[in-house]
Amino acid sequence: MLDCVIIGGGPAGLNAALVMGRAGRKTILFDEDKPRNRVTQESHGFITQDGVKPSEFKKRARTDVQKYPSVSIKEERVEIIEKASGVFRIQTKGGTDYTAKTVLLATGLRDVLPEIPGIQNVYGTSVFGCPFCDGWEMRGQALAVIAENERAFHMGKLLSNWSRDVIVFTNGYQVLDEEKDILARQHVAVVEEKIEGLESKGGQLTSIRLKNGQEIQREAGIVVTDLVQSAPFAEQLGCEVTPNGGIKVDSFGRTTVEGVYACGDTSLSTPSQLVIAAAEGNKAAAGVIMDFVEAAFL
Ligand SMILES: Cc1cc2nc3c(=O)[nH]c(=O)nc-3n(C[C@H](O)[C@H](O)[C@H](O)COP(=O)(O)OP(=O)(O)OC[C@H]3O[C@@H](n4cnc5c(N)ncnc54)[C@H](O)[C@@H]3O)c2cc1C
Repeated sequence: MLDCVIIGGGPAGLNAALVMGRAGRKTILFDEDKPRNRVTQESHGFITQDGVKPSEFKKRARTDVQKYPSVSIKEERVEIIEKASGVFRIQTKGGTDYTAKTVLLATGLRDVLPEIPGIQNVYGTSVFGCPFCDGWEMRGQALAVIAENERAFHMGKLLSNWSRDVIVFTNGYQVLDEEKDILARQHVAVVEEKIEGLESKGGQLTSIRLKNGQEIQREAGIVVTDLVQSAPFAEQLGCEVTPNGGIKVDSFGRTTVEGVYACGDTSLSTPSQLVIAAAEGNKAAAGVIMDFVEAAFL
């Protein structure tokens, strides 16, 4: 029987696998290889890895993990996880079953974009999800925040750190009230008209066309997405979730179900960053190992 099955091979799962490997624990990491940031060309903000291509980051991380013989990586989707008599049964898409003493969920999140014509052409090239990731590259430009909910206020304020020319577009939704005046005081405008479509050239945003016929020139921006769990395992296993939909964990990644750990974006801690996901993976694997060791001394 395996000591641990890790589901998800992003920075969270891979760093967890590294720690499991260095503890000599028998582990398999399953990864479908559809990370959240796969639309981008470069990732930023991770010291020693700043500007690296997401695929290159993953390659380097896998090379680190593969030095440790007790860990193997399988490129396969996990479909079902069940717990019976304190043991986990893990079934892959190919129909193979594995058993493990513990499960570590590092399956991440999926971004659901607002339904605006043209948005797919710019997402990940000039319109991104977070200014900490890509704000530097768009500094000083004519920027848009596209947000259909009350997070428009927070994102409008935040993006003003990178440019003095920011317009918040709510796409027809009335989600701001006195916040409009607060934003205006710092020169952040709000447009509540419905968006007809985004115009772009080679992935570069050029303007935003409104239903009323107006066209507003913009060069780049941030879109506020809806975040949903990539996998249904918290539900399958009965793990408690937080009010914002993240898997509830303690500081060592322990969920509310014994033997189930979670780390990275899946616990919806903010900001969503590679370095934070990797650190959480490290801590969750340490949690798994410490719990094994403590149990052995009971
Ligand atoms: C457009 C964009 C740009 C970003 N840029 C940056 C940046 O520049 N810097 C930065 O620090 N952060 C950036 N981020 C945030 C960063 O991508 C996330 O914080 C990070 O990827 C979270 O890591 P994770 O390991 O939790 O999840 P992920 O990296 O999403 O990895 C989860 C993995 O689990 C796999 N998986 C899911 N379900 C299953 C299953 N059932 N079976 C097997 N495998 C499964 C997925 O396929 C995926 O490979 C960006 C995000 C987006 C959306």
